[in-house]
Amino acid sequence: MSMYVVGHKIPDSDSICGAIALSYLKNQIGEPATPARLGDVSPETAFILEKFGFEAPEFKESYAGEDVYIVDHSELTQAPDDISEATIVGIVDHHKLGDLTTATPLECWIRPVGCSNTIIKMMYDFHNVEIPKNIAGIMMCAILSDTVIFKSPTCTTADIKCVEALAEIAGVEDFKALGMEMFKVKSAVEGTPVRDLVMRDFKDFNMNGSKVGIGQLEVIDLAVFDDIKADLEADIAAMKAEGERHTMMLLLTDIMKEGSEVLVISDNHSLTEQAYGKASVEGRVWLDGVLSRKKQVVPNLQKVFEA
Ligand code: MG
Ligand code: MG
Ligand code: MG
Repeated sequence: MSMYVVGHKIPDSDSICGAIALSYLKNQIGEPATPARLGDVSPETAFILEKFGFEAPEFKESYAGEDVYIVDHSELTQAPDDISEATIVGIVDHHKLGDLTTATPLECWIRPVGCSNTIIKMMYDFHNVEIPKNIAGIMMCAILSDTVIFKSPTCTTADIKCVEALAEIAGVEDFKALGMEMFKVKSAVEGTPVRDLVMRDFKDFNMNGSKVGIGQLEVIDLAVFDDIKADLEADIAAMKAEGERHTMMLLLTDIMKEGSEVLVISDNHSLTEQAYGKASVEGRVWLDGVLSRKKQVVPNLQKVFEA
């Protein structure tokens, strides 16, 4: 039976490029696989796919009765809604271990590196399969995106070595320049509806029974938000109420200044003080050096909720 390879809801470049790259590898080793996606591709991902000549994978929401290989998470909240009726045959991920469980044995490739595509490269090496030029290109871009061109504290030597190797295969001489081009595409927020921006890279977390929504926008200059910050704040307030969330946060990350302005609305008014030692003023706080939701934002928050 052919399997589907699919990343998380609100897919990012790691989820989409990973699904394509892993499907190709699986097909090469005699395990039929089809890449799929759970949502629209972001402008950044569209740029990557176009650059290396790929179509977006098939949009597919329901997986009941199917074999599924999960990419870039291991969380129920980020999986297809009917994942309990599917068979999870494998997981490749670089986040904290989530709450997906299985009734049958599965393969797990989970490593504390900066990107799932770095682990997929390890899988290619393990199976001794050659990576085609265009697949190397999209894998490389996914790693540059997830590691914020190596600036994120989640970036490891494995990620850097992997990008260097993939750049060589893809024939990309200046991969950092390509990374900047990608982040420029990501920074073009003008004219996009605010809800689309809040939802562009958004995750809900269950923190000790409280629902916490955290979105992130990574740009090369926070000035792009000057005219729309109040609208963004109004929208996260609306999403807090609509989703019965305890807290909504939007990280406006400046990848050049290497920090994030956090817009926050929470039932706990001293939340950022407790989590990061810095109080928010009128729902805003600058966190210097904070680039990673996974490594620098979520763990501290979780501690506050579990205290
Ligand atoms: Mg991801
Ligand atoms: Mg990732
Ligand atoms: Mg990311």
